[in-house]
Amino acid sequence: MADVETVTHDVLIIGAGGAGLRAAIAAAAAGVSVGVVCKSLLGKAHTVMAEGGAAAALGNVDDRDNWRVHFADTMRGGQYLNNWRMAELHAQEAPDRVRELEAWGAVFDRTPDGRILQRNFGGHRYPRLAHVGDRTGLEMIRTLQDHAIHAGIDVHMEVTIIALLKDGGRVVGAFGYDRERGRFRLFRATAVVLATGGVGRAYSITSNSWEYTADGHCLAYHAGAALQDMECVQFHPTGMVWPPSVRGILVTEGVRGEGGVLRNSEGRRFMFDDIPENYRSQTADSEDEGWRYTQGDKDARRPPELLTRDHVARCIMREVRAGRGSPHGGVYLDIAWIKERLPGAAEHIKRKLPSMYHQFKQLADIDITKEPMEVGPTTHYIMGGIRVDGDSQMSTVPGLFAAGECAAGLHGANRLGGNSLSDLLVFGKRAGDHAAQFAKAQGEGRIDPAEVDAVAAAALRPFERGAAGEGPYQVQHDLQVMMQELVGIVRREDEMQRARAGLAALRARAARAGAVGNREYNPGWHTALDLPNLLDISEAITRAALERRESRGGHFRDDYPDKDPAAAGYNIVIQKGADGAMAVSRVAIPPLPEPLAAIIKEQSA
Ligand SMILES: Cc1cc2nc3c(=O)[nH]c(=O)nc-3n(C[C@H](O)[C@H](O)[C@H](O)COP(=O)(O)OP(=O)(O)OC[C@H]3O[C@@H](n4cnc5c(N)ncnc54)[C@H](O)[C@@H]3O)c2cc1C
Repeated sequence: MADVETVTHDVLIIGAGGAGLRAAIAAAAAGVSVGVVCKSLLGKAHTVMAEGGAAAALGNVDDRDNWRVHFADTMRGGQYLNNWRMAELHAQEAPDRVRELEAWGAVFDRTPDGRILQRNFGGHRYPRLAHVGDRTGLEMIRTLQDHAIHAGIDVHMEVTIIALLKDGGRVVGAFGYDRERGRFRLFRATAVVLATGGVGRAYSITSNSWEYTADGHCLAYHAGAALQDMECVQFHPTGMVWPPSVRGILVTEGVRGEGGVLRNSEGRRFMFDDIPENYRSQTADSEDEGWRYTQGDKDARRPPELLTRDHVARCIMREVRAGRGSPHGGVYLDIAWIKERLPGAAEHIKRKLPSMYHQFKQLADIDITKEPMEVGPTTHYIMGGIRVDGDSQMSTVPGLFAAGECAAGLHGANRLGGNSLSDLLVFGKRAGDHAAQFAKAQGEGRIDPAEVDAVAAAALRPFERGAAGEGPYQVQHDLQVMMQELVGIVRREDEMQRARAGLAALRARAARAGAVGNREYNPGWHTALDLPNLLDISEAITRAALERRESRGGHFRDDYPDKDPAAAGYNIVIQKGADGAMAVSRVAIPPLPEPLAAIIKEQSA
């Protein structure tokens, strides 16, 4: 076997965002040895970028809130593709997970009587997001990181895992390289938790950072695990659109939660023009009512800007396509207007949205307390992911668990803002608990040296091709542009068929990708190794999107614009077939148990 540094843990966690760290804390508490691997530095994951908050029915700001309302909101938002067991557990357990974070030292914004403050967000019936200004993720990751380190875990920073290793049907380890020296690292483990986040780098306009190349999804897929609902990609309605260098950077929904409104170039609040029937009774019918809602009036209903993200994103696209957009292809998001209603509005905006204030001032030279922002949709999140058991988070492969954004189920066809941070806490803990139990019950597996050698040899092939090979950045760029254009917010059969053909051509180019220079900190080499994942995930998204011939949540088909009631009954599942090709199937969603169906009925009244 190639000469590689080998590390052994009972539980190996791949990913050090909120899900990975919460899993690590749980596994360490169960008394097993835990290692966490991350592609960049500890503390730098998507979780740290989260702005608006973590959704949990604490009922601190509105005592009508409870887990039943949160459960119903999550299912309605997900348009019933959700794994209902996960939606139930999430709604029930999120309050305890948030309070636990507070007990570990997270300092949330407070209500006047000293409890955790909660804010409004799209699709949540009551103010539900526990937050720290618009820097919630930073507080969360800092708290989890401190706690995890004190629990005695080992952290392997700047290590990218490129393959999972199996013994028969079971996962027994992982193999990767370190970025600094480009040397290989072998991890032996009795259980592995994937917590690798999202896939946004498959698209050209995205809020996601360089790390999010679908690694966990693809590691699981190649290890034989099933993926689910990959067509369900979330395009967040508000990303920056100008200047070009910052296009896609997120503008938190918190802006709209604090009273920000969307207008077109004619100054019209176009969101009032298209309110879906299933949200009509919960939506304000005047601008005044919408404003009162954002200021905590319990008798008011939410403004249409706080409808679910899929809907708001499509309304923005409609305005832009109808020629009513802003100069750079977006619409206007205006929080400055609140000065008409609120004394000291400028200071209030800076206090509630400090990151947004600085982001626009520094990156676009816009003072959001005085002028509107230009915003447009950005690829933000994937609801689809690794198919897991709702209680244990184990994938369809024994010993392989998944939590957080790379796992599927909780959010169905569309995620409500704030439900990711609470997802990480609830299911990160569950994955860690169950992975530790699994590890205790199993003996160490056997790693096949030939398998390790084969992975190592394949990883070095880009150097053999050197400068004669294809430039990996160009292939990545062409893929991103194609996915954005052909499998983006609005999809059509003919365009997606073109994308499939385009993917085949890009695969051929990626197979010739070359790397020059040596193995130390070589981003060209790393990009060449990321390409197969980006291609696999793009194919999975495209194939699933072709298979779902209806529009639901984040998946919108111009050629099938309506929901098909029958399609609410199945998930689209993707697995590697025996012949190595991608197989797509429909799998029935188990019927909702009567008590949960009763909650949905009661909350729709
Ligand atoms: C700008 C922004 C704002 C957001 N705001 C909110 C919000 O207010 N509320 C909310 O609920 N959600 C929000 N989200 C979404 C939420 O932040 C993410 O969905 C969530 O943080 C994902 O957490 P995670 O633990 O699953 O993964 P991440 O936090 O994304 O961490 C993934 C980890 O996996 C590692 N990794 C990846 N691939 C590999 C590999 N091959 N080998 C080793 N390590 C690997 C990475 O290095 C990283 O450590 C926001 C997202 C963004 C981008």
